[in-house]
Amino acid sequence: MSLDGQMAQERINPDRMIRRYGDGCLRLPCQEVDPTKASTTELIQRMWRILEADGGVGLAAPQIGVNSRVVIIRDPEASVAKSRHTLINPEVVETFGPDVPFEEGCLSFPGLFFEVNRPRGVVVNYTDESGHKHQVRNQGMFARIVLHEVDHLDGVLFSDHLSFLGKLWMAPRLLLQRMGYLFWKLRNGK
Ligand SMILES: [Zn+2]
Repeated sequence: MSLDGQMAQERINPDRMIRRYGDGCLRLPCQEVDPTKASTTELIQRMWRILEADGGVGLAAPQIGVNSRVVIIRDPEASVAKSRHTLINPEVVETFGPDVPFEEGCLSFPGLFFEVNRPRGVVVNYTDESGHKHQVRNQGMFARIVLHEVDHLDGVLFSDHLSFLGKLWMAPRLLLQRMGYLFWKLRNGK
């Protein structure tokens, strides 16, 4: 892929492009897309440039204001050559194993991390950029990131997984995030 060359040519400011908690587009269910359409290819390339610039491990299209069912994942447990995954129209068909706690972050919640329980493994169906369908069964960080990102496509955020007490505990921080979003919106004219 010539993505790296394009990255060098285009200045990316993830802080300006990633939609934050409080933005209505993060709560909208996303629509399936045609993997072979030019608009899908452009969307995927833009998502990769933003994720690489930010240094995160996963990004869903609604996080950059596009309500399409596309997620990208950079699996930190895989070798560099096998770490990048683009999942178009992903569907979680099964989860397996016990729930495992892990401290998650989200690019739409800058600076906020909290423990989320998720199943250890996942079976996910998706289409690749050539229109070929795949089924992957995996566990560990890959599964966690898939579950986090596919949630985004259904308007579900990681804060929704907190218990009642957890939500109570996090309420002041979530309020600060919302205020941060309003400031961001004013500053960026969104
Ligand atoms: Zn997220």
